[in-house]
Amino acid sequence: MTAQIKMKTPLVEIDGDEMTRVLWALIKEKLLLPYVDLKTEYYDLGLANRDATDDAVTAESARAIHRLGVGVKCATITSNEARKAEYHLRNLFPSPNATIRAILDGTVFRKPISVSTIKPSVSTWRKPIVIGRHAYGDQYKAAELRIPGKGKVELVYTPADGGPEKRIPVAEMKGPGIVQGIHNLDESIKSFARACFVYALDEKLPVWFAAKDTVSKIYDGHFKEIFNEIYETEFRDRLNAAGLRYFYTLIDDAVARVVKSEGGFLWACRNYDGDVMSDMIASAAGSVAMMTSVLVSPSGAVEYEAAHGTVQQHYYRWQKGEKTSTNPVALIFAWTGALAKRAEIDHTPELAAFAKKLEAAALQTIEAGEMTGDLLALANPAPAKSLNSQEFIDAIVKRLEA
Ligand code: NAP
Ligand code: MG
Repeated sequence: MTAQIKMKTPLVEIDGDEMTRVLWALIKEKLLLPYVDLKTEYYDLGLANRDATDDAVTAESARAIHRLGVGVKCATITSNEARKAEYHLRNLFPSPNATIRAILDGTVFRKPISVSTIKPSVSTWRKPIVIGRHAYGDQYKAAELRIPGKGKVELVYTPADGGPEKRIPVAEMKGPGIVQGIHNLDESIKSFARACFVYALDEKLPVWFAAKDTVSKIYDGHFKEIFNEIYETEFRDRLNAAGLRYFYTLIDDAVARVVKSEGGFLWACRNYDGDVMSDMIASAAGSVAMMTSVLVSPSGAVEYEAAHGTVQQHYYRWQKGEKTSTNPVALIFAWTGALAKRAEIDHTPELAAFAKKLEAAALQTIEAGEMTGDLLALANPAPAKSLNSQEFIDAIVKRLEA
């Protein structure tokens, strides 16, 4: 074995639950520890420890990412009544991802991992399409009301400083119906735009942004204005110098162009558009197990994870002694993403090269026809049989050693 690669600064390691926790340990043992003198600040966000610490460990892990700048997170269970009974929990806590996101105030970027033998359903896509989803406001923080019958609905703003009230009619209801009030904040939209442009510069991608400002002149129009203002005042020169362009269009035009495009751009999406379109991109690109996710904070701190959950059903089979064919690729790429970012910040090219080498080894393994069951139906040519997770990781090790 060659000498281990040294790390200058630790990164934040956030352990999680179920099948992904099993894979996490396996990835470290087989793919990382033999090659890297891994320096991490470890936080156990397994459900038992979140319960034991009254969820304090979740906020601590987010603050650690803020301090150290780079984190990698395993998938975690979001507790509910069923999980409370299953794990004998004392309390229910919010989704760890929501807690971490609230502390780091981030934008989530999701990117498919491409393999030459797995073709996207959209035949023109040659390069991945990355979705940047604004994760604040709009329909996700809406006030909604069922209207029982005829009457007037109004929008009222009462200034905190006692200034004059503003009031506009929403609808003169002719009968029963529904009404919804949504909002967003300039600061949040600005930090969303900044996160997208920073990501685009980092990944050398052009940026697309879309809304429906022809219909929603004030609300969607404001998103367009802010995005444009941040581009013009803070990013135009840097993007131009990198040969990257910013493109705004109407959301329906964007959707039509996306499915005729070659890919290879960042699609900045409003909250609802990002929710819907990231599922479309994931499924058209291949599989949720081949999708990375990174949270980028306006402070520059980043957290890498897999886009999928804890793969609960596989875990129950694993507990019974079965060897499952769970795909570890997105988890491996979460680690390589974090190591590469650490290497970039610390100027440690050896570590960056290792991250690249591990990614290449994982992709070559799949391209050589050695893969987990979820990819079998997508690959062309498809191999006769799938490997279990352990065999697949061993096959990556063989290429890493070669
Ligand atoms: P999931 O864990 O993503 O799994 C859903 C299904 O997708 C699996 O049953 C499996 O399909 C397939 N799948 C996902 N990842 C796979 C992989 N790596 N390899 C092979 N197949 C994979 O979603 P879920 O079952 O809805 O959620 C389970 C738990 O995860 C929940 O407690 C939820 O709270 C949590 N969760 C956490 C995160 C996060 O921490 N980021 C995100 C989402 C969900 P087959 O069964 O057909 O093989
Ligand atoms: Mg969705």
